[in-house]
Amino acid sequence: MSFDPHPIHEREGIVEFDVFIAGSGPIGALFARQLVDAGHNVVLVEMGDQSTAVPGSHKKNEIEYQKDIDRFVRVIQGALSTVSVPTSSTVIPELDPAAWRASKPEQSILTNGRNPLQKTHNNLGAEAVTRTVGGMSTHWTCATPEFLKRSGDTVYERPIIFEDVAKDNKEWGVLYDAARSIIGTSETEFDHSIRHNVVLNALRKHYPDRGVKPLPLACHRVAENSPYVMWHSAENVFGDMFDKKQEKKKNANGVQRGKFCMLVNTRCTRLHLQNDPAVPSIVTAEVRDLLAARLADETHAPSPGKDYYIRAKTFVIAAGAVATPQILANSNDLGGRPFGGRRDSPPSALIPNLGRYITEQPMAFCQIVLRQDLVDDAGNVEGKPEWWKKAVVEHRSKNPDDPLPFPFRDGEPQVTIPASYERPWHTQIHRDAFSYGEAGPRVDSRVVVDLRFFGRQDSEINNKMIFEDKFTDAYGMPQPTFEYEPSVKFADEASRMMNDMTDVANKLGGYLPGSNPQFMTPGLALHLGGTTRLGLKAQDSVGNYNSQVWKFNNLYVGGNGLIPTAFAANPTLTSMCLAIRAAHKIHMDLENKSFKPPSEDTPLEHIPPEWVRWTNDPNHPHFPHHNRPPQKSI
Ligand SMILES: Cc1cc2nc3c(=O)[nH]c(=O)nc-3n(C[C@H](O)[C@H](O)[C@H](O)COP(=O)(O)OP(=O)(O)OC[C@H]3O[C@@H](n4cnc5c(N)ncnc54)[C@H](O)[C@@H]3O)c2cc1C
Repeated sequence: MSFDPHPIHEREGIVEFDVFIAGSGPIGALFARQLVDAGHNVVLVEMGDQSTAVPGSHKKNEIEYQKDIDRFVRVIQGALSTVSVPTSSTVIPELDPAAWRASKPEQSILTNGRNPLQKTHNNLGAEAVTRTVGGMSTHWTCATPEFLKRSGDTVYERPIIFEDVAKDNKEWGVLYDAARSIIGTSETEFDHSIRHNVVLNALRKHYPDRGVKPLPLACHRVAENSPYVMWHSAENVFGDMFDKKQEKKKNANGVQRGKFCMLVNTRCTRLHLQNDPAVPSIVTAEVRDLLAARLADETHAPSPGKDYYIRAKTFVIAAGAVATPQILANSNDLGGRPFGGRRDSPPSALIPNLGRYITEQPMAFCQIVLRQDLVDDAGNVEGKPEWWKKAVVEHRSKNPDDPLPFPFRDGEPQVTIPASYERPWHTQIHRDAFSYGEAGPRVDSRVVVDLRFFGRQDSEINNKMIFEDKFTDAYGMPQPTFEYEPSVKFADEASRMMNDMTDVANKLGGYLPGSNPQFMTPGLALHLGGTTRLGLKAQDSVGNYNSQVWKFNNLYVGGNGLIPTAFAANPTLTSMCLAIRAAHKIHMDLENKSFKPPSEDTPLEHIPPEWVRWTNDPNHPHFPHHNRPPQKSI
C-alpha cells in the first residue's frame, strides 16, 4: 500500500483497534457506546463535520426553532443531499440569445453530482443523505414506533429472527425495550398540550377501536409545564462518552471503558482484505482525511498525507442505508473482484445481494386547518382538566385580541393511529417540520395539523441501488443509481391508505390550500431499506441476524438498510434493535478471540439479559437518564 497508518494509531499508542466503525449516526453511535462500555478500543470515522456544540445533538433543540418550528424546515432542507439526480438539458428556452449555450444542444448538465445513468421513471428522486456528526438524527422527527409483528405465517413489518413465534416475540420484546430506553422514547411529553388533546380526543371519538394514542417520540420536556422539549438524537446514544471525566468509568462488572476516538471529516473509502482470501477477513479500513485532501488535487487514487489505513480486529459499516453498501461496493478483494453492488459486478462477487431488494415507502401527505367546532370546544373550559382551564383562562386574559383559545406556546399535536393487520400503514397526525409542509404566513400555525401516512413496498430482487464504475458522487465514492419501481403487491394498500388519510383528515378539519392530499416524491420518507438486508439464508441476504456479513469473519453492518421486510413505520428503533444484537456478537468474538464467518446452520442465540442490563436498571452506571428533569418518573 502506498499510504501510511493513520496517525491515530501512534497518538493513542494502539497498533490495532478492537473495532472500527464508519458513520456516527444513531446506529454507529450505538455500536460505539456498547462496545466502549464493554471495555473495547473503538475508532469511529465520520465523513461529515461536527455541526453542533455537543456531538450529534438535535438541531431542533435550539431555542430559535423551539419558538418557530417552521424555521426548521430550511435546516432540514439544507441537511439533505439528494442521492441520484438525473441530468437535465443545457438548453433553457427562455434564455437571452446572447448567453452561452452548448454547441451540441443534446448534451446535458453533468456538474454537481448529476448522474447520467439515472432514469427519471425509476428513480427514488427524493432519497437523500445527511453528512454530519449524528447523521440524520440531528434533524429527525424522533418517531420511534415498533414494527407490526407477524400474524400466523404472514410477515408484516417485523423481521423474523427466530422461526419459533414465542422465541421471536421474546427476543424482540427485550430488544425494543432496550432500544426505547437508549433513545428515550416517551408517549407522555405532550399530555398537557391542548391541541394534542383536541386531536387525540376527536380521533378517539371517531375511531374507538383503532387504538388512537400519542405518537411515541424520543424526547423529553425540559421541565414540567415548560414549552421546551429536548429532542433526542445520537447525542443521547453516545451519552457521556465525550466527557473526559468519564473516560475511566467502569461498567457493572468493574470493566473500565475502552478508548473511544472519533475522527471527523474522515471518509471511509473502502475495506481491505487480508492476503489469504480463503476466509475473507478485513484487516484495514482505508480512510481519507478530507481536510488534508483539500490541499491536494482531487485525484481518487490513494496517496500519502491524505489517505491512511486503520487497523482493527472487527469492522462495522453503519454509514446509513446508502453509504453502507457504497463503501462495501467500493471495496475489492486482492484479485480486484468487487464485493458486489457495482454495475458490472461479476456473479462471483463476495456479497452478491448488495443493493438488491431495496424498499422505500409510499408516503401520503396533507395539512388541515382544524374544524370550527373543535376549536370552539377547546375554548369552552367547562368539564376540562384544571391545567387546560388555567391555560385557556390565562391566555385569554393576557391576549384578549387573540382569536384562538390556544396559548401561543401550546405544545403541538403528536398523535398516531397505530398500524394494524387490516390497515398496515404508519400514521403521524401531528405538527412538525420536515423538508416541506411549512404552514406559511396566511394561516395561524396553531390550527394546522399535518397528516403523514407511510405505506409498505415489497422487497423485490430487481429493485436495486447500483454503484457506478464510471461516475463518482460529490465525495468521490461510486455514484449510486436507483432502479426502483413500486411493487404491484402493495399498490392496493397504498390506495386504501390514501382513502384512510382523507377520512381522518375530514374528521379533523378542512384542507389547507396547497396541501391537499398527495403522494410525495418517492424516497421522501427517507426510510430506504433492504440495501444490506439480513436474512436466515445467504441466498437472498447480505448478512445474518447478528448483522454479520456472510462469508466474512469480522465484517458487520448497521442501519435501516438491514431491514429485509416491507415496512411502513419509521425504522430507526428497529435498526437499533439489530445493532444491540450485533454489538453483543462482536463483544463475544473479541472476548473469545474467535472470529468465524456466519453459518446458516448455526442456530442464533438470544441476547443475554446482562447485555441490556444497563438499559433497564436505573442504578447501573451506564443507565441512560437523558438528563430528564428529576420530578418526572423515568
Ligand atoms: C426529516 C427527517 C425526519 C426523520 N424522521 C424519522 C423518524 O421520525 N423516525 C425514524 O425512525 N427515522 C426518521 N428519520 C430517519 C432517521 O434519521 C434515520 O433512520 C437514522 O438517522 C439512521 O441512522 P444511521 O446511523 O443508520 O444513519 P445516518 O443517520 O444516516 O448516519 C450515517 C452517517 O454516516 C456518515 N457517512 C456516510 N458515508 C460515510 C463514509 N464513507 N465514511 C464515513 N462516514 C460516512 C454520514 O455522514 C452520516 O453522518 C428521519 C430523517 C429525516 C432527515
